[in-house]
Amino acid sequence: MSQPDTLIVGGGHNGLVAAIYLARAGRKVLVLEAASEAGGQLANRMPGKDLGAPALHPAGRLRPEIIRELGLARHGLAIDDVPHAAYTALLPGGENLRLSTRRGDTDTLEAIRRHSARDAARWPEFLAFMDAACSLLNAAYATPMPRPERREILGKALPLASLLLKLRRLGRRDMFRVIRSLSMSARELADEWFEAEPLRAALGALAIHGVTLGPYSAGTGYTLIHNWLNRGGLAHASPDGAAITQALVTALQAAGGELRTSAPVARVLVERQQVKGVLLKDGTEIHATRVLSSADPRRTLLGLVGAPELPTDYVWGVQSIRMRGSVAKVHLLTDGNHGLPEGTLVVAPTLRYLEQAYDAAKYGEISASPYLEVTTSGAVVSIHFQFAPFALRHEGWGDARAALETRAIETLSKYAPRLSDSLQSVQSITPVDLEEHWSLTEGDLNHGQLILDQLMFMRPLPGWSDHRTPIDGLFLGGSGTHGGGGISGVPGRNAARAALSGR
Ligand SMILES: Cc1cc2nc3c(=O)[nH]c(=O)nc-3n(C[C@H](O)[C@H](O)[C@H](O)COP(=O)(O)OP(=O)(O)OC[C@H]3O[C@@H](n4cnc5c(N)ncnc54)[C@H](O)[C@@H]3O)c2cc1C
Repeated sequence: MSQPDTLIVGGGHNGLVAAIYLARAGRKVLVLEAASEAGGQLANRMPGKDLGAPALHPAGRLRPEIIRELGLARHGLAIDDVPHAAYTALLPGGENLRLSTRRGDTDTLEAIRRHSARDAARWPEFLAFMDAACSLLNAAYATPMPRPERREILGKALPLASLLLKLRRLGRRDMFRVIRSLSMSARELADEWFEAEPLRAALGALAIHGVTLGPYSAGTGYTLIHNWLNRGGLAHASPDGAAITQALVTALQAAGGELRTSAPVARVLVERQQVKGVLLKDGTEIHATRVLSSADPRRTLLGLVGAPELPTDYVWGVQSIRMRGSVAKVHLLTDGNHGLPEGTLVVAPTLRYLEQAYDAAKYGEISASPYLEVTTSGAVVSIHFQFAPFALRHEGWGDARAALETRAIETLSKYAPRLSDSLQSVQSITPVDLEEHWSLTEGDLNHGQLILDQLMFMRPLPGWSDHRTPIDGLFLGGSGTHGGGGISGVPGRNAARAALSGR
């Protein structure tokens, strides 16, 4: 490539999505990724021995509109419009609750009816409500948020008005129902819909997936809708992260962009509040008039730009972004006779159980009885473990790793009696590993907590949700910005649009 004009820091899915939009608009784009492969959290690289299962994610889903706009089908990524795989709550005694979000799925209605006939009757209406809520949230994420203190409010009035119109079109009842749900707790939301505890807890589990909140926390109504929107329902959709990354990398190359891996950026170069390019860790300087970072906002602004280049109140704001990783991953290599069904499995018997699992995180402790989300990949059983706080109160993660692994195995064995006999080896990824190997500050997989005061026009910072920064030519487009976190590609697309619209 001749001299690039736009540099992307980070080749996770959002960095790649942004890069493709920019390259297709004629920019000369170079993506710089610190790791030895692209994909960020979707990449399969495992610290230590590779067990042959996805390290962090069983699967992910880009927004169908992004797949269409970027022509990713030509690069092997089909639109999965019906990701209604099984989501199974493992229950004591072995009587599991198997749910699918496919409309009219009689097996699901029958499974719910065994716990409550009333809940089974309400399930179709609940799915319709979640559809309405997700379509509104999706529209909000695609709408550029105005910066309150700027004249921009007028410029952004049209998209905002169209968002309000979409809200109005839901009809009076659903409009208020959706708005109320965003600030409610998952428990309050469940109270309004269902009475059977296994069903309420299965929904509560998705609401707290990836965040350091319990189902009694305000705003977990919102996180339920957010996670449901990203997955397209309850269960993980296909394809796996490697397929998404592969499609994005080939689409980038087809658009004339370039990806360089093992190229960690050490500094973003700034002169008189104007971006000038980047300095790589190996000492190479690359100059460009635009830099779009998909690394988390704190890492980008305090680590790569540096506080002296930024206004004091802005620095204070960035320091205050709450990053609170408390997710760990435990992979079990078995002889294949683990006895677990396929699909997305959850250990979340009651809402109270989930809340108590979260209580431990509040005090810097690993949950004694954790919320688990489990997937299998052949002989490998992969366990998403909450809560395992980044900052432990009594010990370091070097000492705590064994306790994490034991708790994961003991908890799951209660629901899978054949598991311990079938176990051959264990490998875990702690929040500290997430920081070290995946560059996630404090192990926060969303690049900043999904809490009410860090959303929409307050993400990543109040007044700075339009992907711009105080540095001219420097944009932010990872999960810590408006539209993130999680797998969707939305912040990457929004940031590319901001970068194309100038300044
Ligand atoms: C265990 C686990 C479970 C999850 N479950 C779900 C789920 O069910 N649903 C969902 O939607 N999401 C889930 N997530 C969250 C989701 O994976 C992330 O929010 C998303 O992948 C982030 O994508 P990104 O492109 O914004 O950032 P990342 O994937 O974090 O990519 C950022 C990239 O920037 C690179 N980078 C950082 N600093 C530098 C530098 N100085 N120089 C060069 N490169 C740099 C990093 O190496 C990385 O590749 C989960 C995450 C984990 C870890």
